[in-house]
Amino acid sequence: MKYGRVYNFSAGPSILPEEVLESVRDNLLNYEGSGMCVMEMSHRSKVFQQIIDEAEQDLRDLMNIPDNYKVMFIQGGATLQFAMLPMNLMKNGVADYIVTGNWSNKAYKEAQKYGKINLVATSKDRNFSYIPDCSDLPISEDADYVYICENETIHGTTFQKLPNTKGKILVSDQSSMFLSKPCNVSDYGVIYGGVQKNIGPAGMVIVIMREDLIREDLPDYVPTYMSYKTHADNGSMYNTPNCWSIYVCGQVFKYLKKIGGLEAMDKLNQEKAKILYDFLDESKMFKGTVEKEFRSLMNVPFVTASAETDAEVVAATKKAGFDNLKGHKSVGGLRASIYNAMPKEGVVALVDFLRQYEKENYKG
Ligand SMILES: *Cc1c(COP(=O)(O)O)cnc(C)c1O
Repeated sequence: MKYGRVYNFSAGPSILPEEVLESVRDNLLNYEGSGMCVMEMSHRSKVFQQIIDEAEQDLRDLMNIPDNYKVMFIQGGATLQFAMLPMNLMKNGVADYIVTGNWSNKAYKEAQKYGKINLVATSKDRNFSYIPDCSDLPISEDADYVYICENETIHGTTFQKLPNTKGKILVSDQSSMFLSKPCNVSDYGVIYGGVQKNIGPAGMVIVIMREDLIREDLPDYVPTYMSYKTHADNGSMYNTPNCWSIYVCGQVFKYLKKIGGLEAMDKLNQEKAKILYDFLDESKMFKGTVEKEFRSLMNVPFVTASAETDAEVVAATKKAGFDNLKGHKSVGGLRASIYNAMPKEGVVALVDFLRQYEKENYKG
């Protein structure tokens, strides 16, 4: 690997395309002849306005975002959205949540501060290892929206088919699958994602919201910063935005366009995931923890027969130049996050290593 870098399987913040990091490095002290670093630049400058305008346009191109959707760059990560969404979307004070793992559960709990929240489906009974059937849920008549986390980063599950919301607005947390494959934006009322999983530097969330959901008549308690209208009306620059993150995300969007957009990305992601899952299916020592049908293309959790062996494997992989394979503390085991920027060689090298490890250490 160039620059002494390792294969980084971190769930987030996570690996970025080397080409983007090189371009950022080359422009670090003097961005495109402006005489300064993007970190040093006024967000009201012409140069920065062009950076944010291009970032938004490139994202719109990549996802084919219809004109009646707003794109907002907001701070506070994905976590702030757990509160901001109910604060802004509740009219009847009712929402339906589908809980399929750690992140949707956090959102479900936070939303309870702001209204009556119904749990309409969950996969908790089998330790969040699958996605429940969402074709005919008891959706509430007066639900203001239906909420999902489309790819559970910790549990490694993903929705293959969106829930039937029976006409209600669908809100989706796409943090760990953002831009990993084509997405039909009009199926959703809101799509959002913290960028540090699959796009750029931490500290920002991108919210794509249907225009008519952006309201003026919010309760008085809603802070100005937490009204979507504030961000939509001010081009994400009501206050100083996360300029650095917007810039690097914009560079990643340009990179994705260059390599063929989300269709090309999807194809590569499927190839990468298949290599790893095929190995897990063959292996006697390592096992994937998710039911086949619902496996994530981005986050691949797996285990051996014991926590001790899991820890030994994590240590051995780290020594061999594969970093951040320890599973999240809430579930244990191992997890390989193979986001957009993870090259296919990285997955192949990991599988080769694990296969060899099994040969040398597996006693049956
Ligand atoms: C990481 C993550 C979050 C939380 O993101 P922060 O930016 O740390 O607030 C929320 N949802 C999902 C699916 C995530 O993976």
